Amino acid sequence: MASDDGSIQAELAFSRDEENRAVVDLVLEANVSVTCQRCLQAMPLAISVSNRLGIVWTDEQARHLPRQLDPLIAPEEGCDLWYLVEEELILALPPFSYHDTEDCKQILSDFSGPAADETQGEKQPNPFDVLAQLKKGD
Ligand SMILES: [Zn+2]
Repeated sequence: MASDDGSIQAELAFSRDEENRAVVDLVLEANVSVTCQRCLQAMPLAISVSNRLGIVWTDEQARHLPRQLDPLIAPEEGCDLWYLVEEELILALPPFSYHDTEDCKQILSDFSGPAADETQGEKQPNPFDVLAQLKKGD
């Protein structure tokens, strides 16, 4: 993520499903800032996630969950819900984000102002010239 700005709303509802499995229904709405892969500027991104997870206590139990239920493995000392929220958000983030074309163009046009001074480096003295001078002095 490009910065820590943003807001996250998370709703977690614990219940039991029709087969008496402990489940949690997770609904996340987040506004985060990510980096546009085209202009490399920060861009806002809204993410929403809704997912149902099966709560289990061991890997063995996790393996027995039906395919459509992602396991939430709860450690003895209780589950770190914030960690869970973060994991779900990371999964929901698109691997690459781009501004809407119009927003992105706006930023790109700012960059096409006075040309970058890339050529300046050529004016730097070549360190090998100095060596050449020293050799002559020998
Ligand atoms: Zn962009």
